[in-house]
Amino acid sequence: MSPAVQPACISECQLVNWEIDTPDVKSLIKINFETMEEKGGSPYQKWFRSVATGKDAVVADTRSGEEDMFDNCRLIAWKTGKAFKPENLFFRTVDCGRLLPMHLAPFRVQIYGHDSCFKKLDEFEGGRRRWASHVLSCYIHRICVLRNMHGMGGADIPIVLTLWDDERTKRALEYWVDFSKGEWSREAQERRFEECDAFCRRQVIPSFLETDKLVRALLSDPEVGYVPPFIMFHSLPSDGNTCVLFTKPLHVPSPSLTKNGPASCNAKNCHRDGCSRIDIALSRSLVDKSHMVREWDIVHPKRTMCNLWICQVQHSSDTKLQRCQRCKEVFYCSSAHQTLDWRVHKNVCEKRS
Ligand SMILES: [Zn+2]
Ligand SMILES: [Zn+2]
Ligand SMILES: [Zn+2]
Ligand SMILES: [Zn+2]
Ligand SMILES: [Zn+2]
Repeated sequence: MSPAVQPACISECQLVNWEIDTPDVKSLIKINFETMEEKGGSPYQKWFRSVATGKDAVVADTRSGEEDMFDNCRLIAWKTGKAFKPENLFFRTVDCGRLLPMHLAPFRVQIYGHDSCFKKLDEFEGGRRRWASHVLSCYIHRICVLRNMHGMGGADIPIVLTLWDDERTKRALEYWVDFSKGEWSREAQERRFEECDAFCRRQVIPSFLETDKLVRALLSDPEVGYVPPFIMFHSLPSDGNTCVLFTKPLHVPSPSLTKNGPASCNAKNCHRDGCSRIDIALSRSLVDKSHMVREWDIVHPKRTMCNLWICQVQHSSDTKLQRCQRCKEVFYCSSAHQTLDWRVHKNVCEKRS
């Protein structure tokens, strides 16, 4: 069997995994919220304000049987007068329609790269940790926006380090998107794989072979322990962009969230132009319910859920969820759960015109 058609196993992947665990990510986020204010009024703060008050960043897709539930409901909310802090920035989840604060959605960053990439990072003073706190923090806000779109899943964000230019990245993503449609014969798959491999290889790290194995393992091997809602590709040379392969179209953020984002992080010690950019134009999504993606125990509910974090009740014709009468933006299964959620929800709930 050719490598293109063998099932992919995470234990056999040659790319090395370095996990940035939840406490480290949390401190990365905390530091960033502080450093970005060093020059006063970070571009992110302005961006959050404009999205949270803007009219266009509202829920667009209505699920069947739930027409009108999300009329005028926002994708991002930040209550007037509240400090610019993770506990006050709320995001609408695409899977269950909740409005939850950023600090309720911790995550780990799973960095995958060729051994030589990590060696290079470790040569710098402070090593890979220093690299992560400099480079990763430039677009940590963007990662937070993508991650916070998920109520279920999304606790692990894989980032693949490459030395690819944009053209190589584009070819690779196109391969996986086409492969996800499940229409290729084995011969066609091998031919497409060879084409992509030949283009990507040429002494460039990582090889397409290694990367394809990793991508398919992340999406299909139960040993991974999760199914990522998206995989990021971070090109180490500064002329390459960071872009995203989404696991399904639902996970692609609304254009209203991506069109006017800040171009740089505003940190005092950062001199990289356009440092916080994630290239959405270069990003792609696999088709819905692709054979490449295994079904996972943590379901992706298609229905709106009670906004209380731990509640599993979904909206249905038998169980109609009740709307918060003040903001009209969230739903509850009972007044008991509305009362329990108030501790969190009060930080965003306000009358809107
Ligand atoms: Zn395995
Ligand atoms: Zn920066
Ligand atoms: Zn999902
Ligand atoms: Zn409930
Ligand atoms: Zn409310």
